[in-house]
Amino acid sequence: MKNVLITGAAGFLGSHLCDRFIKEGFHVIGMDNYITGDPKNLVHLKENPNFDFIEHDVTEFIKIEGGLDYILHFASPASPIDYLKIPIQTLKVGSLGTHNLLGLAKAKKARILIASTSEVYGDPLVHPQTEEYYGNVNTIGPRGVYDEAKRFQESITMAYHRFHGLETRIVRIFNTYGPRMRLNDGRVIPAFMGQALRGEDLTVFGDGSQTRSFCYVDDQVEGIYRLLLSDYSEPVNIGNPHEISIKDFAEEIIKLTGTDQKVIYKELPVDDPLQRQPDISLAKKLLNWSPKIDREEGMKLTFNYFKTLSAEELLKSEH
Ligand code: NAD
Ligand code: UDP
Repeated sequence: MKNVLITGAAGFLGSHLCDRFIKEGFHVIGMDNYITGDPKNLVHLKENPNFDFIEHDVTEFIKIEGGLDYILHFASPASPIDYLKIPIQTLKVGSLGTHNLLGLAKAKKARILIASTSEVYGDPLVHPQTEEYYGNVNTIGPRGVYDEAKRFQESITMAYHRFHGLETRIVRIFNTYGPRMRLNDGRVIPAFMGQALRGEDLTVFGDGSQTRSFCYVDDQVEGIYRLLLSDYSEPVNIGNPHEISIKDFAEEIIKLTGTDQKVIYKELPVDDPLQRQPDISLAKKLLNWSPKIDREEGMKLTFNYFKTLSAEELLKSEH
């Protein structure tokens, strides 16, 4: 049985990755310090003999007994309100945390995949974004703590690959959604769905003309799984290229949830990218991967999940 360490295991993507690797017959070690995650996301794996959990901050030295075949480094705050609240931890997990995990991979002779992001492209001047684009990031802006941590993460990963011959993979994840997102994490999908469920108006930031392209979690996990098992060490975009403006997206959510709320407008956060759409030609060619779940289906699945949350959780998630 192969051993895989997944950091950020109690988070949204990390917990789905744990499920997928267990399903594929791996022994999974999950690691998390719960800073933005939730033990609830792993509760169903508690009794599973192929799952172990270590509560640990990956910015501190990491000790693992026994062998490791793969490492997936997904620990990091991922939502703008999270990383604006904990900017230093965000910088540390992307830099010191990644350094620790690369060192661990080297010691264990494991292959490591790191979770990068479309945010490395910043407010992009090239559209859609291909992997060749270097990006347009404001290093000293409030979002810089996340974007630059991820850019450093990519650089140190390539350095370990080139200098130490480590087997590395880099996924550039574009906005991904689905069950187990934290209702109060501030990202647009939980925000709009929470508002719809509480009977509040939907808050669109700016004039809502900014665009995003949303990928359902199962498609994202499939892309990550294929990339890990590929032999390609440079960054690969994984996302759904179907782009929509945030204003139109709010209308779509109102229709889906069958509520009669209005859209209200609030100030656009500093450095909020105006447009974002992945070019996934590379993933198609290299991994024979493309997303299968369209937004209509994915949003229904996600809304059904949020509907199961208790009234107490819904109230806790109020802005
Ligand atoms: P999330 O906040 O749900 O999960 C992140 C997890 O990492 C949490 O459980 C948190 O407690 C844990 N964590 C943070 N710092 C840690 C530390 N120092 N030590 C141990 N654990 C720590 O976010 P997510 O959406 O699941 O994102 C997971 C990864 O994917 C992140 O690296 C993020 O940057 C990347 N990513 C996600 C998206 C997306 O759309 N969901 C897009 C681009 C990149
Ligand atoms: N957004 C919004 N209302 C909200 C939350 C977010 O209009 O209540 C906007 C946000 O300004 C951004 C887009 O939705 O333009 C996506 O935001 P999110 O935080 O989900 O992800 P990111 O900006 O990192 O892509």
